[in-house]
Amino acid sequence: MTRVIALKCLRRGHDLPPDDVVTGCPRCRDDGHAVNLSPVYDPSGRRMVLSAGRFDPDERGVWRYHALLPVDLAHAVWLGEGETPLVHATALGARLGLDALYLKNEARNPTGYYKVRMEAVLVARAPQEGARDINSANN
Ligand SMILES: [Zn+2]
Repeated sequence: MTRVIALKCLRRGHDLPPDDVVTGCPRCRDDGHAVNLSPVYDPSGRRMVLSAGRFDPDERGVWRYHALLPVDLAHAVWLGEGETPLVHATALGARLGLDALYLKNEARNPTGYYKVRMEAVLVARAPQEGARDINSANN
């Protein structure tokens, strides 16, 4: 697992500690803006994973990339998240002059949209953070 050293606010760029922030940037929320955070990885760990030239071939879907996720693989659950096909878009490719245009069919994810990848990571991280259950932030 590559260590996340901070979470960066996508609106204002400030760094926040990586622990216990799962509902977006608290500073921007106080200003009335819902803002996502992006993980900042320990650069030495990320370089090591990327220089290996491949991700984990023994895992499937989103979990192939577990070395870059802030989750212990022991907590991973998988319902097919990220195991979506590339579709050769021949007609669109011909219109655009591209022989090898492929589109990722994210509708093949269990929930029908791409955000389920993040949700799988969130569910796996919850017990790691000591959560006893998972509730929607909208409740
Ligand atoms: Zn912010």
